[in-house]
Amino acid sequence: MLTSLVELAELIALRTSPARAIELLGLIPKSALEGMRRTRFRRTLRIAAEHSSFYREQFRRHGIDVRRIDDPSQLSDFFTTGDDLRALGADAFLVRRADTAFETTGTTSPVPKRVFFTRREIADMGRLSAIWLHLLGLRPHDRVVSAFDCSFWVSPYVLRAGLDLLGCFHVEAGKIDAAEFYERARPYRPTVIFGEPSWIVRLSEIAKARGPWPVKFLFAGGENISESARSEVEDAWGSPLYLNYGQTESFGALGAECRLKNGYHRNDLYFFFEVVDVDADGYGEVVYTTLSERAMPLIRYRSSDLSSLVNDRCECGISMGRLAKIRSRCDEMVVCGMGNVGPWVFDEVLRGISGIGDDWQVVIGHAGSHDLVVVHIEMDDMSRQHAIEASLHANLRKHFGDFWRNLEMQLYELRVTVHPPGSLRGHARKLRRVIDERLMSRTRSVVSA
Ligand SMILES: [Zn+2]
Repeated sequence: MLTSLVELAELIALRTSPARAIELLGLIPKSALEGMRRTRFRRTLRIAAEHSSFYREQFRRHGIDVRRIDDPSQLSDFFTTGDDLRALGADAFLVRRADTAFETTGTTSPVPKRVFFTRREIADMGRLSAIWLHLLGLRPHDRVVSAFDCSFWVSPYVLRAGLDLLGCFHVEAGKIDAAEFYERARPYRPTVIFGEPSWIVRLSEIAKARGPWPVKFLFAGGENISESARSEVEDAWGSPLYLNYGQTESFGALGAECRLKNGYHRNDLYFFFEVVDVDADGYGEVVYTTLSERAMPLIRYRSSDLSSLVNDRCECGISMGRLAKIRSRCDEMVVCGMGNVGPWVFDEVLRGISGIGDDWQVVIGHAGSHDLVVVHIEMDDMSRQHAIEASLHANLRKHFGDFWRNLEMQLYELRVTVHPPGSLRGHARKLRRVIDERLMSRTRSVVSA
């Protein structure tokens, strides 16, 4: 009964203006919201058990009776992984008819993860985006130009749905070269700019050289960014850069920064968060269960992102808890200016290049505010380094159009370093293929949001 009243209050809040919604949602007591989340969690389990062939089979195999489960931790070692999505396809997860789909932009394998949704879900997520952007200061008289990649990617559609509700002027540039964007966007005098972090870094270098215009804030999603690169962006424009944290699987925002930029406020209305395999610092893999009514529910989905749950009250006054800034990935994928890359990408890029050994290693680091991708290879004939670089570029252009485009847009640097045969592996039995030097730690136990 209480949950129905809270759900009704939420429904009304999300359909009023963003300013009123913030007020109304703030009036719902924390205990009532928690009760609603538990009810929604049980509903997700029940619907998945009834209508998704994957979950029906998995629950049977794990001996899980969903009627007895109130909390994700009771599911102990049951998780859903990206490999499940890739191996079984979206159909096995669907619980109702979907009318749109998006894909992950590159993963640990050449097979994309396809995730299906309904247009209603886009509209709902758009409402939450509108509320958040209002909190950050976006108003109907603002002018937005966005440069998100529109190819199979969810973010531009969620943004569009949010901006429709806010009613502000909006031009969609797509992910074009930052120098071209600068010249073509400037006549619109955008007060708010959206794009991927590495792209915004590049745009900001151009703005610094050619002159910025007054901007209220910049908003980035899709990758992480170092605080030094963020400072350079903010210095160039004299305005803040806010980050969003999401995955295609989650359909947009799992969380977003407030004005204090001290972690991502969690979207606890739509997701149940856990952090598993927690280390001594409280960092572990972010795992989430969808709570909203989805065509493709996900139960304890392993995000592969390492973060921690922050439940102390944020000084901004927003009561929703936070996820700390993402530290790293716990699979071999690296999200950087090149794109989402894993070992298989470099296997392909190095394939067929004569004269190089089987051992190679890629190290992702920083070069100023850019990401630097260094491909370490082994070869007898050191004089062929330039020829190897040319072949590698040709393979990249041929097989990975997006990664090539990002290189041309100067969103990252790509270098080859040659070593004598046998030197990369040293005494190691297994050579780690891709190393992200921009980041730290790994992880172990379960903490629940
Ligand atoms: Zn805050």
